[in-house]
Amino acid sequence: MRPKIFRCESCKRYTLLNTCKVCRKKTENPKPAKYSADDKFGKYRRIAKKTNK
Ligand SMILES: [Zn+2]
Repeated sequence: MRPKIFRCESCKRYTLLNTCKVCRKKTENPKPAKYSADDKFGKYRRIAKKTNK
């Protein structure tokens, strides 16, 4: 289980809340899961192409 960690863009604080306690702004996920998953699969696909001749 991964805890959801968000980051406030204005004060650069990490928080588990989707609203910053300090400046009351909406926080954002610093690592979008979709993007990193795509990147990983792309890497594996390239490796698979090289090794499976
Ligand atoms: Zn903040």
